[in-house]
Amino acid sequence: MATPYPGKSPFSMLSVEECVSMVSAQVLGPLGREEVALADALGRRLAEDVTASAPIPAFPASIMDGFAVRSSDPPNTYLVDADSLAGGQSAGPLRPGYVRYITTGSFVPEGADAVVKVEDTVQSARSDGQVEVQILVSSKPGANIRAVGSDTAKGEALLSAGCQLRASELGVLAALNRSRLWVHREPRVAVLSTGDELVELGGQPDEGRGQIIDCNRPLLCAMVKELGAIVSDRGQVPDELEHVRATLADALESADLVITSGGVSRGSKDYIKEVLGDLGELHFGEMCMKPGKPSTFATVKTGPDPAQKKLFFGLPGNPVSCFVTFNLLVAPAIQRLRGSPGSPVYPRVDVELASPVQMDPVRPEYHRARARWQSGRIVAESTGFQRSSRIASIAETNCLLEIPKAHGTLTKGTVVKALLLTGLLPEPEGFPSIAARSVQAPLAPQAPSASGDAAPRRAKVALLRWDSAGGEVTREQLATFLGPVELIEKQAPEVLEMRELLESWSQESSGMDLILVLGNFGLGAKDENILALLRSLVREAPNVADLLLRQGLEQSPLAMLQCVVAGYRNSTLLVTISSLTSSSLGDLCKLIRADRP
Ligand code: AMP
Ligand code: MG
Repeated sequence: MATPYPGKSPFSMLSVEECVSMVSAQVLGPLGREEVALADALGRRLAEDVTASAPIPAFPASIMDGFAVRSSDPPNTYLVDADSLAGGQSAGPLRPGYVRYITTGSFVPEGADAVVKVEDTVQSARSDGQVEVQILVSSKPGANIRAVGSDTAKGEALLSAGCQLRASELGVLAALNRSRLWVHREPRVAVLSTGDELVELGGQPDEGRGQIIDCNRPLLCAMVKELGAIVSDRGQVPDELEHVRATLADALESADLVITSGGVSRGSKDYIKEVLGDLGELHFGEMCMKPGKPSTFATVKTGPDPAQKKLFFGLPGNPVSCFVTFNLLVAPAIQRLRGSPGSPVYPRVDVELASPVQMDPVRPEYHRARARWQSGRIVAESTGFQRSSRIASIAETNCLLEIPKAHGTLTKGTVVKALLLTGLLPEPEGFPSIAARSVQAPLAPQAPSASGDAAPRRAKVALLRWDSAGGEVTREQLATFLGPVELIEKQAPEVLEMRELLESWSQESSGMDLILVLGNFGLGAKDENILALLRSLVREAPNVADLLLRQGLEQSPLAMLQCVVAGYRNSTLLVTISSLTSSSLGDLCKLIRADRP
């Protein structure tokens, strides 16, 4: 005879990968777009490609405070014809035989083709009140002038649709004078908790009745807000079938996505699965993972448009299960609705266990941990006892370790995969200052320095691309650090071709200072071949590679997926680059600049 108590789950248990792809198959794409003021766009996802509609700078501008000169005029003493101040009225073309006082960012007058910085001049006032300036150095045309479009050319693509607008992107958009932007509409997310035992935050639980504080709802609401979506806190629903049915139907009407906690297990008052089965299509009800096994996902058609479906996530009641399954299942769906272009939302990285971890023989575990960067690798410290009710295990966690299902214990130092939920923690001992790091890096063997008055020769730099991906380095960027450079650019898609070029460029007689090999060096088989070739060619300079990697990590945690090779072949510094920060480029240039023969 049937008992009044539910038995085993009727759902087949699917792998996490299956569940994640079932969710992603139901998220058709970003929601519509809306135009907002730049000041309201922080954190939003851009819904348009942005190119520069005008060049930056829009006029030839001085890089220095000093004097605008004709480069054909030799070092000598000149009178100042007028002042050219940033934001001030133009004084017309530079008079022949004169120089013009100019401040940083000011319009370089017609007739002038170089600026001499104030440090390279000596000024004196004549008795008639005129100012005389002794110009101590000769200049090349264009020296200390930002040519029109040399920062950003008109038409240059700067931001793509889908990019997340952080402060830096808003700065770029402001420079383009974009006061209004198209962004994706934010999803409206309804959050409810179920459970007769729940007491509102700040309330007084009756322990004798097994009452507890509802911590899932504040947790879920905050996670939704962290992603940028609009939360609608729908409160608590008691464990009563018709009440649950009415509340869920109501939430689905006004939200794009609904999240509940609790009520999805095999308890006699767990009604979420039953109600969802009636309201819409239930895609899965059991996931093979720890914690979070009873996670439930359904879609429900509400409006007249049959393609338009609301997403429903029934997360388990235990707070840690809620946290983990939100990150694995819900966050990617919300990100996609917000306009994020890609589906994987977390970097999946190799980490070293800081202490032993026991495996579960039945289900893979998503173990909460704190990952930090330490001496060139990532080390992860478990947050301790991992029971799904122990909410302390999510405090200050920044990653989920993927612990495979198996018997036994993973020893300290074992390398496992981890999903990085947020950025890495910094190295405990901190980073040495940039100045200290530059000193640490080995200096290129220097030829004996030329006699005092000889002009330094131009730096010689080669850019070698092996695919179309990877960073860009321009002559102007190099010139910022090295002055005018001799630049060679080549594409070598094959390893053999690449070897030939690198060998010939790095011969002592070629005088090449720096070779930048541009491309995305990650984990592919071809990448391996190229990295092996580079390592075989150079005397490796691990300090330089480490410096570049750290600077990359300051820009994006994804930089840890990059392999960097840096080293010397003869006197040439050879470095692989995917995306180069300007401080990295500056540091590389410092290594090759001093006393060039
Ligand atoms: P359930 O999935 O409803 O059976 O709940 C599983 C466990 O999670 C039970 O111990 C519940 O008391 C607890 N729980 C459910 N909802 C919450 C909540 N909102 N906050 C804290 N704990 C909860
Ligand atoms: Mg419950």
